[in-house]
Amino acid sequence: MVGDFDVIVVGGGHAGTEAAAAAARTGARTALITHKKATIGEMSCNPAIGGLGKGHLVREIDALDGLMGRAADQAGIQFRLLNRSKGPAVRGPRTQADRKLYRTAIQELLAGFPTLHILEGAVDDLLTIDGACKGVVLSTGETVSAQAVVLTTGTFLRGVIHRGQERIAAGRVGEAPAVGLGERLEALNLPMGRLKTGTPARLNGDTIAWDRLEMQPADATPLPFSFLNDRITVPQIACGITHTNKDTHAVIAENIGQSAVYSGAIAGKGPRYCPSIEDKITRFREKDAHQIFLEPEGLDDPTVYPNGISTSLPAAVQDAFIRTMVGLEAAEILQYGYAIEYDYVDPRALSPALELQAMPGLYLAGQINGTTGYEEAGAQGLMAGVNAARAAAGVQAVQLDRSEAYIGVMIDDLVTRGVTEPYRMFTSRAEFRLSLRADNADRRLTEKGLAWGCVGETREKVFHVKQAQSDTLDAVMTAPRFSPQDAARAGMKVNADGRRRSLRDLLSLPKVTFEDLIGLEPSLGTIDANQRTRIEADALYAGYLDRQAADVAAFQREERHEIPEGFQFADLPGISHEVAERWQRAQPKTVGQASRVEGATPAALAILVIHLKKQATKKRA
Ligand code: FAD
Repeated sequence: MVGDFDVIVVGGGHAGTEAAAAAARTGARTALITHKKATIGEMSCNPAIGGLGKGHLVREIDALDGLMGRAADQAGIQFRLLNRSKGPAVRGPRTQADRKLYRTAIQELLAGFPTLHILEGAVDDLLTIDGACKGVVLSTGETVSAQAVVLTTGTFLRGVIHRGQERIAAGRVGEAPAVGLGERLEALNLPMGRLKTGTPARLNGDTIAWDRLEMQPADATPLPFSFLNDRITVPQIACGITHTNKDTHAVIAENIGQSAVYSGAIAGKGPRYCPSIEDKITRFREKDAHQIFLEPEGLDDPTVYPNGISTSLPAAVQDAFIRTMVGLEAAEILQYGYAIEYDYVDPRALSPALELQAMPGLYLAGQINGTTGYEEAGAQGLMAGVNAARAAAGVQAVQLDRSEAYIGVMIDDLVTRGVTEPYRMFTSRAEFRLSLRADNADRRLTEKGLAWGCVGETREKVFHVKQAQSDTLDAVMTAPRFSPQDAARAGMKVNADGRRRSLRDLLSLPKVTFEDLIGLEPSLGTIDANQRTRIEADALYAGYLDRQAADVAAFQREERHEIPEGFQFADLPGISHEVAERWQRAQPKTVGQASRVEGATPAALAILVIHLKKQATKKRA
């Protein structure tokens, strides 16, 4: 036996690194087993962190002391706040990242955990005792034992790369797939399926005519992801923008039969919101151009990632269509694009703690659960790591609900609704998005992380200092100090009603800006950008937030309304067979979860609630 641990994490991608670090932060003796130490923290596809909805996840991971935000701050070479013109609730922090710097940052952060051991190897099988997972078997035949195991194998489970007619068994380009483990999971009779994703060719930046392209600069003042950082010191670069055109589309259309996706070679469904260029020109026939961002992959790396042209067309066709675009006429391709098909496990087989219901002690996180994206993977990894460590220590699992975090929204979506295509986060998935903002993730979550034991000392100190500053600031913002005359002197128009207003009241007026307030309260001139966003959002949403608080309370009541273990939904009088069957299959643990199972009707829910109340009364009698 190679060793005995509290928690084993299989996979050194985005889910695996967060899972291992989270387990180690709680003090668990943790082993991270992955194919290659050198690829820990590798970004398999686009070199970017964050974006719409995804940026919120990164801030939440950071608030729970995860790695992704800190690594992105050390590696970010083009910070941009997306949706800047929209409300603060839906703005998306994003940065393009230098691949090497990102990998290095993650590896350095992991090296800082004394209870974390990194082992190189391929996991082929699971060790089980009385139906519970108690370790793993490596391809060498050696075993490693633990109280709980987290699988985060990404696109590697029986992965197959497709490019034109080429088929290569691989987890991603140049890396072997995990075949044995895929077969083992199938033998457990788990509900599994195939999904696909794709990546574009990589270009040699030295062969791009940058002077012919529109350039997009980074934000003048980059906003860090991590609540631990107040500035970014990495040099910032600009991206190029080009477009596909009629010639590009003609080359693709002529050769579409050779695309692995369109020739019928791939059965798995791809990400709707990240379509291949073949999909784009087929689905949006009316468009004769698509915008393509040319994103440098590093400060000292000539490789360029052309964002928006992922493809599974043969290499020669990729050469031809790429060179039809302005600036890319002489572009050299360093690596051709491809699609990859892989196994995933239907996440409805998991508990909200991300533990496989059919095998206690086995947790799944990341792409293996049908999601796509580093941020989605990282957030699940963190929760699975915390819960695996808690299980190993014999303490109860923890979870976040939909009113507390995007992480809660995502995990609830996965375990109650499952996926039919790779799942990615959007702000529109969250019902309570006015309060679930990127700017207030620390105030929502760090205290919980402290209670769970997954927040370290450095963050705890910074959090308490910031919390005290925020409380002082909130007191300054909400004290009703300014008469209409004071406001008028500062250039703000308010009704002459004699009422004293707070700075927050004034800021919520349509034409008043944060800068206007500084005249009345000079101390506001020195606060950091994140505090400023929080203050602006609190003022903008003040009225709505009060109303939302009532909705949150009603939601949490339903979430607390538990459905007893083994409840027979088919016995409910007066509900349709279809709803009963869906509930029976989904096994919701609360009325809230039952309400979100596809097909659940208000009438069926009312029957369920009445029945549960009757049962509870009978029990009490
Ligand atoms: P990964 O990052 O894939 O990490 C898996 C890790 O597990 C690897 O370190 C691997 O070595 C290790 N591993 C696997 N099996 C074993 C085993 N048996 N034993 C030991 N170690 C093992 N996301 C997007 O949001 N947009 C996109 O456009 C996009 N395109 C993609 C294109 C491609 C070609 C690929 C491969 C991925 C793409 N992704 C995209 C997805 C993104 O890369 C993943 O969502 C993210 O990396 C998932 O993280 P993960 O931790 O689940 O898995």
